[in-house]
Amino acid sequence: MAKDSKIEWTHHTFNPWWGCAKVSPACTHCYAEAWAKRVGSTVWGKDAPRRFFGDAHWNDPVRWHREAALQGVRRRVFCASMADVFERRAELHQWRERLWRLIEATPSLDWLLLTKRPHNVRSMVPWGASWPENVWLGCTAENQIWADKRVPALLEAPANVRFLSCEPLLGPLDLSRYLSSDPAQSIHWVIAGGESGAHSRPMNPEWVRGLRNECQRANAAFHFKQWGHWVPEELLTEQQRNVIVLDGHRLAAVGKGKAGRSLDGRTWDELPFKRHA
Ligand code: SF4
Repeated sequence: MAKDSKIEWTHHTFNPWWGCAKVSPACTHCYAEAWAKRVGSTVWGKDAPRRFFGDAHWNDPVRWHREAALQGVRRRVFCASMADVFERRAELHQWRERLWRLIEATPSLDWLLLTKRPHNVRSMVPWGASWPENVWLGCTAENQIWADKRVPALLEAPANVRFLSCEPLLGPLDLSRYLSSDPAQSIHWVIAGGESGAHSRPMNPEWVRGLRNECQRANAAFHFKQWGHWVPEELLTEQQRNVIVLDGHRLAAVGKGKAGRSLDGRTWDELPFKRHA
């Protein structure tokens, strides 16, 4: 079965609905909002409606599960790229209930639920202290302030895998209090990356190295997704015109494609458990 998502760390993407409202600085240049606008969907902000889908859409993961089961493999599903599963709105309740049933019916898929609202998780999932093994719960942590607001709620969830998306990484992050040698108390996987797009905020390479080093010390998996729009100038061979200096680092605006995703001479694509590779 082919990988059909362009996102490096997942095989598939599933959206139970489209639409959301911004909650923190990581949302400022929300690509999902821009994409929805581009295709004529007015679903952003607290007063806008959300967009829902029919049975054909909801059957996609069932098909992915069957194909994975036939091949004896596991597949990761990122849920959701165009919404936040844990947004609190009355009309989303029935769709979330449908999502929980779908997750339970597709055990060959690992469902990566990524949220900026982890404080809502406990009251919205039906699983109490016994979650299905195929649920990975993650939250965004773009800087220390938002890590400290969100990660404690993430750590309360008894998910098989708990992960952080530090993308766009907007400041230095000390995760030491959230990484533990006891898996029951720890974050298991950290994804990091810089912002992409013309108005991107630059990322100090030392912030990424700090996260990578902390993960290595704590035996947590680390994935470096991208530099984003800005890349350390020393990684480029050609002279650059658009260069800024951030904390002593010269960063060139070259765009995500050219910037690449090599950090200290290699790519970082670690996954939390070998069985999920
Ligand atoms: S929570 Fe996610 S989907 Fe919602 S506005 Fe923020 S970045 Fe966009």
